Amino acid sequence: MIQFLDLKKINAPYETALQEKLKLVLENGWYILGNEVKVFESNFANYCGTKHCIGVGNGFDALVLIFKAYIQLGKLQKGDEVIVPANTYIASILAIMQADLIPVLVEPKLETYNINPDLIQEKVSSKTKAILVVHLYGQLAEMEQITTIAIQNNLLVIEDAAQAHGSISDLRKSGNLSNAAAFSFYPGKNLGCLGDGGAVVTNDTELAKVIQSLRNYGSEVKYQNEFIGINSRLDELQAAFLNVKLPSLDDENTIRRTIAKRYLSEIKNDKIILPFWDFSENHVFHLFVIRTQNRNELQQYLLDNGIQTMIHYPIPPHQQKAFSTWNHLSFPITEKIHAEVLSLPISPVMTMDEVDFVVSILNQY
Ligand SMILES: *Cc1c(COP(=O)(O)O)cnc(C)c1O
Repeated sequence: MIQFLDLKKINAPYETALQEKLKLVLENGWYILGNEVKVFESNFANYCGTKHCIGVGNGFDALVLIFKAYIQLGKLQKGDEVIVPANTYIASILAIMQADLIPVLVEPKLETYNINPDLIQEKVSSKTKAILVVHLYGQLAEMEQITTIAIQNNLLVIEDAAQAHGSISDLRKSGNLSNAAAFSFYPGKNLGCLGDGGAVVTNDTELAKVIQSLRNYGSEVKYQNEFIGINSRLDELQAAFLNVKLPSLDDENTIRRTIAKRYLSEIKNDKIILPFWDFSENHVFHLFVIRTQNRNELQQYLLDNGIQTMIHYPIPPHQQKAFSTWNHLSFPITEKIHAEVLSLPISPVMTMDEVDFVVSILNQY
């Protein structure tokens, strides 16, 4: 059986180093916001090319804290509208709502699965104050066009980079293409820890200061509270693990691209639509997502042949029970994507023999 994602295998090369870090943190006796968090924040800011990185509890909180900090700074207000792709993972939308802002859904492009910049302007109202772009499946959104629209309309741009650690456009990395960006280090992400973790990166010093305080009860000096904050700190132990894994992120992304290149050139089947990629480093293939008419049939066929796949995602946000006021809305491209997508196995520990096998089974379908 080719597993969709073998986390144990992904972390196996780091086993000794991770155990040493555990021992070190244990012996240090400093388990919250210690040196490992500081070092990781500095390492990851360096990696992204941003001035600041603030470690937080998870990717969702990273998004929420960006919005809450902008509200604190008076750049956003309760009830403001935020443009967001209609086909994103639910967390992007929930984070907007969690900060008392209003999500406004925009259709993606069928080819790239990313927000269609041509459809943003018509959704901009007097209450629109920000665009939350999502680099879905690891491919950068069309930032040049989006940034132009944002400047014309005086909007903030925020990146949900939870699936795009290390993807690059014109020598700038994801996280450094907007006002502020949120990352997740959920175990299955391209950079994953052994539990929950997240970070905000930004070049905005004022924003970074507020987020640093908000994540820790709104307090910089112990028992003095400047803001109404929350508890969302990156764990010292998770930061220590991330410090072990970060130096290998680029190599692991290169392996993902190598597998993607093989899938793209070797899968030859009229029933399968392969994802768009221009072969630059703008894609880190968190997921390799194909489309097909009889998606469930193909998924079963692959499973019968020992290949596990996943669907990202089966139900579009506007059709979720939780968003009952949206259920009557129609987003045809989003709905088509959700009905047809299937994610093939791709990971830094997948062997070339396994790629051979997936290709040959798909070509026989
Ligand atoms: C994983 C993910 C998140 C949320 O990250 P968590 O760490 O699970 O909270 C947000 N947005 C996208 C696009 C994601 O893939």
